[in-house]
Amino acid sequence: MKATIAVLPGDGIGPEVMQTALNLLDTIGAKCGHEFSYQEALIGGIAIDQTGDPLPASTIQTCEGADAILLAAVGGPQWSDPTAKVRPEQGLLKLRQHFGLFANLRPVKTYPALFEHVPLRAELLEGVDLLIVRELTGGLYFGKRQEQDQGADAYDTMYYSVPEVERAAHVAFRAAQKRRNKVTSVDKANVLASMRLWRRVVTQVHEDYSDVALDHVLVDACAMHLLTRPASFDVLVMENMFGDILSDEASVLAGSLGMLPSASLGNGTFGLYEPVHGSAPDIAGQGKANPIGMFLSVAMMLRYSFALETEALMIENAIDSALKAGARTADITSRGSSFISTSEFSATVKAAL
Ligand code: NAD
Repeated sequence: MKATIAVLPGDGIGPEVMQTALNLLDTIGAKCGHEFSYQEALIGGIAIDQTGDPLPASTIQTCEGADAILLAAVGGPQWSDPTAKVRPEQGLLKLRQHFGLFANLRPVKTYPALFEHVPLRAELLEGVDLLIVRELTGGLYFGKRQEQDQGADAYDTMYYSVPEVERAAHVAFRAAQKRRNKVTSVDKANVLASMRLWRRVVTQVHEDYSDVALDHVLVDACAMHLLTRPASFDVLVMENMFGDILSDEASVLAGSLGMLPSASLGNGTFGLYEPVHGSAPDIAGQGKANPIGMFLSVAMMLRYSFALETEALMIENAIDSALKAGARTADITSRGSSFISTSEFSATVKAAL
């Protein structure tokens, strides 16, 4: 197959992990007879520096002409002045909204080779394989807000309409049908009106999916259950900010924030694929970035946008093999043991393909 991919490296460790991911994709292409072409564009802090806009019109145009978007990370201390009119993260939010990417899929699984590194008992980590479906274009991050310069108060609003919850719920139930047929809906229905609507709508949508079991959990309890019984979850569906927070928490199960991928999808096969982590300015340029989250995002792109399941599995299996063989980046190394650089780790994964 032939595909055009919009490539948005962004800031910090973004360009480092993106480079290794494209390298891996070229290898897959050569092995399996696919032609991937890349159109690079600006986003985030580097886009602000060069154009004054975190998501320039030319980037939107590049993405519109592509079959999928691959993004690494945006942000950094040089653009984090809270009084600034433009911030890198605005580029990301605008991009998701522009393409109607309302569902963010964040799979989390554990790797026995890394159990020693995770601060939870191995017996809790055995068999963890969950999928967080985060609603991505509504909720607290997109509701009405007010903030006055030096003002005495400010507010954000958690708003949801019925169709917004319905479409997120459908994504979760359909995903569960391809997995272990269980959905946990996470809300705060005991306090928030928008979350009572969430629970009601998810319950109604469930009527179309009699083969899937549904339970409801409050977000605060869920934060605890993710650490005390993570293997009991299959698909979790939740509000935008809840998903942002709980997926970072869940990354601990995998071994590092650097290991988690995500796919942001709308109604068709077009999608935005990016690791869950940020631009990690503390390690940028040092060859310490873990590229697994970026690699697994490439695998998700192959699976969801291009229907290349075998090729996606090839990447996932190569990562498993590299970890089993003892390859480690700095973030997944126990104190005192040795680690290899981003490019060395990438070469190990490539060799295992
Ligand atoms: P972060 O995810 O960048 O880093 C948190 C910690 O995890 C750091 O110690 C970092 O070194 C480590 N880490 C992250 N990714 C790693 C990787 N691939 N390999 C090894 N270690 C890794 O979060 P932060 O420090 O809170 O934010 C830094 C910047 O990134 C901020 O400007 C923030 O706004 C931005 N951010 C962007 C995104 C995004 O682009 N989607 C997401 C979160 C944060």
